[in-house]
Amino acid sequence: MIVEVALSLPIRRTFDYRWPQSFSEEPRLGLRVIVPFGPHKKSGILVRVKKHSLFKNLKKVESLLEETPLFSQELLTLTEWVATYYFCAWGEVLHSAIPGGLGIQTQPLYLRNLPTTLSDLASASPQLQQFVEQNQEWTQKDWQKIKPTQKDRNLLQHWINSKEIEVSQSVIGSKHKIKSERWVRLIAPLPPLKTSRRKLPKWVQITELLAIQHELSVAEIKNFVPTPAQALKKLVEERVIEIFQKRVYRKFLVGGLPPIEPFPELQPAQKAVLEKIQPILIAKQYHTFLLQGVTGSGKTEVYLNAVHTALAEGRGSLVLVPEISLTPQLVNRFRSRFGDQVGILHSGMDDGERFDEWSKIWKGDIPIVIGARSAVFAPVKNLGLIIVDEEHDPSYKQGETPRYQGRNVAVYRGYMNQATVILGSATPSLESRYNVAQGKYTLLEMNQRIHQVNMPTIELLDLKEIPRQQGSYFFSEKLVKAIRDRLQRKEQSLLFLNRRGYSPLLQCQDCEYVFTCKDCSLSLVYHQSIGALKCHQCDFSMPLPRKCTHCGSTHLKEMGVGTEQIESELKMMFPHASLLRLDRDTLQGKHALEKKLEQIANQEVDIVIGTQIVTKGHDFPNITLVGVMLADLSLNIPDFRASERTFQLLTQVAGRAGRGKKGGEVLIQTYHPMHHSLSCTQHHDYELFLQTELQSRAQLKAVPYSFLVLLIFSSPKEERAEALAHEFASNVRHHHQVPVIGVGPAQAPIAKIKNRFRWMMMLKATHISYLHQLLALALETPSKLSLQKEERITVDIDPYQLL
Ligand code: ADP
Ligand code: ZN
Ligand code: ZN
Repeated sequence: MIVEVALSLPIRRTFDYRWPQSFSEEPRLGLRVIVPFGPHKKSGILVRVKKHSLFKNLKKVESLLEETPLFSQELLTLTEWVATYYFCAWGEVLHSAIPGGLGIQTQPLYLRNLPTTLSDLASASPQLQQFVEQNQEWTQKDWQKIKPTQKDRNLLQHWINSKEIEVSQSVIGSKHKIKSERWVRLIAPLPPLKTSRRKLPKWVQITELLAIQHELSVAEIKNFVPTPAQALKKLVEERVIEIFQKRVYRKFLVGGLPPIEPFPELQPAQKAVLEKIQPILIAKQYHTFLLQGVTGSGKTEVYLNAVHTALAEGRGSLVLVPEISLTPQLVNRFRSRFGDQVGILHSGMDDGERFDEWSKIWKGDIPIVIGARSAVFAPVKNLGLIIVDEEHDPSYKQGETPRYQGRNVAVYRGYMNQATVILGSATPSLESRYNVAQGKYTLLEMNQRIHQVNMPTIELLDLKEIPRQQGSYFFSEKLVKAIRDRLQRKEQSLLFLNRRGYSPLLQCQDCEYVFTCKDCSLSLVYHQSIGALKCHQCDFSMPLPRKCTHCGSTHLKEMGVGTEQIESELKMMFPHASLLRLDRDTLQGKHALEKKLEQIANQEVDIVIGTQIVTKGHDFPNITLVGVMLADLSLNIPDFRASERTFQLLTQVAGRAGRGKKGGEVLIQTYHPMHHSLSCTQHHDYELFLQTELQSRAQLKAVPYSFLVLLIFSSPKEERAEALAHEFASNVRHHHQVPVIGVGPAQAPIAKIKNRFRWMMMLKATHISYLHQLLALALETPSKLSLQKEERITVDIDPYQLL
C-alpha cells in the first residue's frame, strides 16, 4: 500500500511513502504521520492511499502521531482547493488549518464519562481496578505505567466502544499541560443535621451547596465557604463526598455562561430577510446571500436567528468575524442565546486552549463556532450555515503563506457542503456586489437603523480653508467646539486617525535628511511615549537622535501626525477630560482590548482616540460625536482599492456615532472634500459610490473585472532580486499563449524590507485559470538562477497589499 503525504514545506506537491505491513491500522485519510524526509523526520498528513507510485525505492512511514485522523474528508477537499487556488503547498494550508500547526505534539487522553461505574470492571486486573477508581482521566503514559494486561486492553477498548470512556487528543509539552481541577461530589445521602446553632458549620454549608449542584469544583466552593479544607477532609472520611479530578477546558472567556435570553420580536426588515434565508437553509441548498444593512440595522440579530434555524435542523454553524471584533460582547450575544453550544477560536488563546476547543468541535460537541479568519477551517460537523460578518474587511486576507481570502474560502466551503452562506456588511466589497450583479449572490437589504434611530449627520471640513483651533495645526475650531459640547453634556466623543505613533517622519531642517530604517526602505516613526524612532515593518527601533546622521545639525523636526500627537494636544486643550487611546501600541496583553472597550461602555472615558480598530462594529450608545482627523491618509496609498478602503473606513467609523437615542454628529477633516469616497460617505450613498467606482475599475480593467496575481522577488542582493524578476518575466513571455496582461517587472514601492530587496511583477487576466496555467509554466521552468538562501519568490493571488 502506498500513501501520499502532504508536508508543511513550500513545495507544491505531495510525497509518496510505503505503508508498513507491521502497522496494525489501515491507512486512513487525514491521519498525521511521521515520515523520513532527507536527513530529517517530518510530520505530515496522509492525504491519499493508492496501489502504485511513479517513484522507486520509497521510504516507509515511520509512525502515527494519533490513532484518529485530524482532518475529515471534507477539510481535506477544502484545503486542497485552497492550495490549488492560492498556488501554494497543500501541506502549508493544512499546517495553518490546525491550531499550533502540523508540528504540534499531542497524546491520547482518556476521560471517564461520569459518574457510572464501568461495566465488567470485576474482570479487570487488580491494578486496573485500582487505577480507574483513583483516576477520572489519564494519559497514554499513565496507562502504560500500570502495565495493563491484554485483557485490560480489551476492556479499555470495550469501554471506549460503549462510550463509557472518551478518548481525545490533547496537546503535550510543558506549556500546554492538560489542565484539571479538584471537584467534589456527593456520594451518600445528607447526614441529619444535629445542631441548632445560628451559624451553620462549614461541612453543613458544603453539603447544602452540593444538594443543589451535586458536583462542584473546590475553587467554586471556596467562593461560598472560605477555607473549606478541614471540612472537606472530614466529609471525605465520613464517606459523604468524594474528591476527583476533572479536566477543564481552558477558555478564552472568563466567567460562566450568561443567562439565556429570549429572541426579541423581529423588525419587519429583519423578518423579510430571514424569510428569504430560512427556506434555503432548510432545503439544504447552497446559496450565498449578501446582507447589506446600514450600521445598527440589526444584522447580528439576523445571524442569531439563522443560527437558531440551522441548529433546529441539526446542522452546524460557522460565524466568522474580523479578529478585532471578536470581543466578549459579541460572543456573549451568542452565548446568551445558545449557551455552551458556542465555541470560540481566537488568536488571543494559546495553542493549548485553541487545540482544546478545536478538539471539542471535531468531536461534534460544539455545533456553533465563532472565530476569526483561520476558523474558516474549523472542523464543524454537518455544516449548514456560514456567516461572514463585515465581509469587506481586509483582515480576511492572510498576509503570509497561505495567502487565502477567508471570505472566499467560506463561500467555497458553503458550496461544497450545500450550506447557506451569509455575507454581511454595511459597506460590501466591490467584489461581492459584482457577484450580485453576476447573479452569483442574492442581495438582501436593511436600510434603517433599529428603534427609529437616525443615521448621523455628516459634515466635511475642508482643511484648506477651515479655521484651525488656536495653537493647533490638526484641530479645526469646529471640531474642538463639538468635543467641548460633548464634555459639557457628559456624552462621549471618538476621534479617528489611521496612523499610530507621534509623527511619521523625523527630518533634518538643514539638509532635509529623513531618518530611515537600516533594514527597510521606510521612514522611522517617532513614538513619544517611549522616546524612540520605530520601524513599522520590522522590529528596529532607536532612541530619539539629537543630531542629523547626515550633516550633524541639531535642527530636527517631526513632520506629520499620529494618534499620540492627537492625544497630547487633547490633553492640553481638555486637561480634565479622561482620554483613551486605542491603537496597536496601547493594546499589549491578552485582554487589553476587552478591558478598554469595557471602560468605554461604562463611560469611564470622555474621548476615545484610535486607529482603524475604533471603526469596527462596536456598539456604544453614548458616543454622539465622531471626528475624523485626516480622512486623506488612506486615499494617498498607491493601491486600486484606496478609494474603496477610504469609503468603508469612513462609513464604518461614522456608524459608531449616535447609535443610542441621542442622535449623532460626524465631522470629517479632509483636503479632498470633492472626492467621491468622501461625498458618498457624507450622503450615506453607497449605491452612488459603487457605480462611480465600478465604472473607473471597468475602464482600468481592474478587480473585480479581472483577476490579479502579484509576484514578489526578494533577495539580500539587489541585483539578484532584479534578475529573478526579469527571468520570470522572460518565462512569462515565452509561455504566453493565454490572454494574460503582465505589468512590470519593477522595483516594489517598498524597495527593501528586513534587509531583503524587493522586485515585483503583476499578472492580470479575465479568468483565474489563465493565471494558474501561466504561473505553473513560468515558475516550473528550470531556473538558471536557482534560488539561494534568503531568497524568495512569493505568489499572491488576489492580493490586498500592493506595496
Ligand atoms: P448591526 O449588527 O447591523 O450593526 P445590531 O444587530 O448590533 O446591528 O443591532 C443594533 C442594536 O439593535 C443592538 O443593540 C441590538 O440589540 C438591537 N436590536 C436588533 N434587533 C432588534 C430587535 N428585533 N428588537 C429589539 N432590538 C433589536
Ligand atoms: Zn541634516
Ligand atoms: Zn524596518
